[in-house]
Amino acid sequence: MRRFDDERREMIQLLKDRGISDKRVLEAMEKVPRHMFVMEAFINRAYDDCALPIGYSQTISQPYTVAFMTESLKAKEGEKVLEIGTGSGYQAAILASMGVRVFTIERNYQLLNEARKRLDKLGYRVAARAGDGTLGWSDFKPYNGILVTAGSPTIPQPLLDQLDEGGRLVIPIGGLDEQKLHIIEKKGEEFLTREVQGFKFVPLIGKRGWSN
Ligand code: SAM
Repeated sequence: MRRFDDERREMIQLLKDRGISDKRVLEAMEKVPRHMFVMEAFINRAYDDCALPIGYSQTISQPYTVAFMTESLKAKEGEKVLEIGTGSGYQAAILASMGVRVFTIERNYQLLNEARKRLDKLGYRVAARAGDGTLGWSDFKPYNGILVTAGSPTIPQPLLDQLDEGGRLVIPIGGLDEQKLHIIEKKGEEFLTREVQGFKFVPLIGKRGWSN
């Protein structure tokens, strides 16, 4: 719809103004219809730069956060990325639209089913399953990138173990109220980390995250 196209273009300009410069990320975010991933009641706010409820006390992340995390991941076409926290499926659609091979895990069955249907309908090919993402998805390891879209108290070891050489893990770490985004790159036996302040995510609940 024309109106949503205009709003999406305005969102892209805002992302550029906030410092997002990766053309592939901006192109993907200009293509993927975010209004198809939000609840009907919030459709008028689909392109506002804020998180929105998707039911079950969960949210679709703010566009700037999605853009920043995707840019930080530096995933190339054809590479394998594991996403923890499928939620609405929006982040998975952004990665898929960049030509990335996406594997995504969601702990909430209802959200997973809704996201699967939505992704299928819109033509995004993504491997999605229910489960505790803090344990990773070892069947398809190693991953070039792992992106965690919920906040964890510590870095789950299985995610580090499932990262390929040169791969990146992007994960919010901290307390329940605020987290720092950790951008971790595997270099041989070492993990090089950059931390960026000022993020707020719903909790990562699981064996290697917060307890239920
Ligand atoms: N990436 C999503 C999107 O694009 O809509 C937003 C995800 S929302 C901020 C975080 C999601 O992580 C929630 O749907 C929540 O149920 C899920 N989650 C929390 N702990 C999890 C775990 N251990 N494994 C998998 N999913 C988890």
